[in-house]
Amino acid sequence: MWWWRSGEEGAGEVSEGCHHAFIGMGSNLGDRRTFLKEASLEIGSHPQLRVIRLSSLYETEPVGYLDQGWFLNQVMEIETTLTPEELLTFLQGIENKLGRKRLIRWGPRVIDLDILLYGNRTIETPKLIIPHPRMYERGFVMIPLQEIAPDLVHPDGKTTREHLDMLMKTEKVEKIRLFQG
Ligand code: AMP
Repeated sequence: MWWWRSGEEGAGEVSEGCHHAFIGMGSNLGDRRTFLKEASLEIGSHPQLRVIRLSSLYETEPVGYLDQGWFLNQVMEIETTLTPEELLTFLQGIENKLGRKRLIRWGPRVIDLDILLYGNRTIETPKLIIPHPRMYERGFVMIPLQEIAPDLVHPDGKTTREHLDMLMKTEKVEKIRLFQG
């Protein structure tokens, strides 16, 4: 169970067994916008899950493997009674259904779905690391997250705003712009 900082929109206790989570979505192959839309619809179709908020779409230069097109990225807030492991399996099923091929690490993909946060839980198993291990280094995660949950308190006690401020100070943020499409 966890709380928003008082005074924020959505303030209040989350009911027992039901957890807020944040999902990072990205696509850089084919009709990127349609893949993100389809992924959102698939996610929202699960009976144990409710989509609460979606960020705007952001266009981001690739990191890691650079010889590929720009990504479209978006962050989604959900409420769910699925466990983190069940949520991961569900999201991987959607990646497979939408035709993701895992050819090159950090390479092109029609859809990439990551669990960024699950309540205030910290998880470290061979299959699942939460908070997502690279989220605090990535503008394409932190900027959309700041848009929809600036005052969210993370497991380390810092807010999204504080994390993004720290990231901006490193000046290592990849190029990112609001997608007007
Ligand atoms: P990627 O190719 O970057 O999507 O990584 C997929 C792999 O990361 C899968 O094998 C997952 O088991 C693992 N993984 C670890 N933590 C997470 C997370 N928080 N969200 C999604 N996948 C994760």
